[in-house]
Amino acid sequence: MSVDIALARPDADLFINGTWTRGDAGSQDVVDPGTGKVIGQVSLAGEDQLDAAVAAAKAAFPAWSATLPAARGDVLKKAASLLAEHIEEAAATILLETGKTEADARGEIVRSIDTLQWNGEHAGRIAATTFPGAAPGSRRQSIPTPLGPVAVITAWNFPAVLATRKLGAALAAGCTVVFKAAEFAPATARLIVELLTEAGLPAGVVNLVFGEPTGVSARLTASTDIKALSFTGSTAVGKILAAQAAPNLIRTVMELGGHAPVLVTDTADVDQVIATTAGAKFGSAGQSCVAPSRYYVHESRYDEFVEKLTARAALYVLGHGTEEGVTLGAVAHQGRVDALFRLTQDAVAHGATVTTGGKQVDRDGFYFEPTIVAGLPLDSDAEILSEEPFGPIATVSSYSTLDEAIEAANRAPYSFAAYVFTTSLRVRDETVKRLNASNIGINQLAPSLPDVPLGGLGNSGYGYEGGTEGILAFTQLRLVSETPGSA
Ligand code: NAD
Repeated sequence: MSVDIALARPDADLFINGTWTRGDAGSQDVVDPGTGKVIGQVSLAGEDQLDAAVAAAKAAFPAWSATLPAARGDVLKKAASLLAEHIEEAAATILLETGKTEADARGEIVRSIDTLQWNGEHAGRIAATTFPGAAPGSRRQSIPTPLGPVAVITAWNFPAVLATRKLGAALAAGCTVVFKAAEFAPATARLIVELLTEAGLPAGVVNLVFGEPTGVSARLTASTDIKALSFTGSTAVGKILAAQAAPNLIRTVMELGGHAPVLVTDTADVDQVIATTAGAKFGSAGQSCVAPSRYYVHESRYDEFVEKLTARAALYVLGHGTEEGVTLGAVAHQGRVDALFRLTQDAVAHGATVTTGGKQVDRDGFYFEPTIVAGLPLDSDAEILSEEPFGPIATVSSYSTLDEAIEAANRAPYSFAAYVFTTSLRVRDETVKRLNASNIGINQLAPSLPDVPLGGLGNSGYGYEGGTEGILAFTQLRLVSETPGSA
């Protein structure tokens, strides 16, 4: 089935207190990375509009937080079924504004439907916990209480999944939201907010804004009415936002960058490793925080691995998501293409061999060839081993001892996903214990599904999204210690 791009509406305005409105600060082009052409406009909020969005979220909070949790969940579940009804429009919108393939676009919408549904079902299950009292006849209760109006800021690479993970949890918890979605992919966010509204979300509960990013986050975090900031994006921007949130002690959740290592041990099945990880490496053109990006392969399997991964990478069919048979889409913008070229050239200067790919594709849009960079020493200072590559590129290096492999994997300044392929229980235990990673796949990928908590470590962030913990991130656990009165 092909995507009908005529269904996409690639423009996005602001949504403040239940009304769609043009931005006072003008607008910005929305570009299809698959063609490089302008396809729409995104409205940019002025300061008064940002203040109005915060005021609307504040005004809506008492009623929304007092709404029965199960009724809040009903809105999310209704939005999930509306998104399922609008799957063709949603897939067309994502495909156009992110450059994804049809399969990636459709897959993302299915995950987003599941996310809304899961949070909808769990809204009514967030319960207080009762503890025995410290004195006879007394008791203590820990009661999750919604924090208040919160700010949510998301990256462009999974515009539907990131929006539904954050909005689903915040709304289930009873918070109201000012949502600053990425200006690179605004229309998917707009569609999700439209569907939540159609599902019955009252005015002011979710307010959607776009703008000059630093100014927007500075304005939102300057408000003492904003009680939490949940961010998904790059590590560099996460650090800026954590600093902006600090003066008002705004609670933050930071879902940041990654540079996932894959340990291919001597007992691994090379064909299985490649079949399992290639989709995650090249899906969304490698622009995922959990994309495998550094393969460390036992020396006994190295030559076979390089040959087979190179052959697999070369099979990808690059092109626009609307073209028949395309399996690898575009990267976000020319800046990413330039960064990938720079990383490749720097790796070559450090002694690597590019076994396939390595350059921009000569066509309209922002395409980089699927690229394998082989042979960097484990202790190489090549930038590609420490900088998140965020593209269809992977390194392959050879190791001889497990200690060496773990040390090399831990050299990158990120601690998010890591993958290990082994049939040895000892290797499994050693790597789980010693890898700097918070999301580990053993002989499989490590997907962030709606029912489990997931968060980064170190430069990959902190706090949790997903599962009950993801909802609790938007609450304060209030402790009530009580002894019955005598009356
Ligand atoms: P980004 O950090 O450039 O942008 C993310 C959001 O922050 C956008 O809304 C953007 O407008 C805003 N922003 C950008 N610069 C800002 C600034 N100076 N001040 C305030 N806000 C600013 O990231 P991106 O390019 O959109 O996304 C890619 C990054 O996101 C990668 O590092 C990727 O690993 C990460 N990511 C992490 C996860 C996760 O779950 N950990 C998931 C998806 C993406």
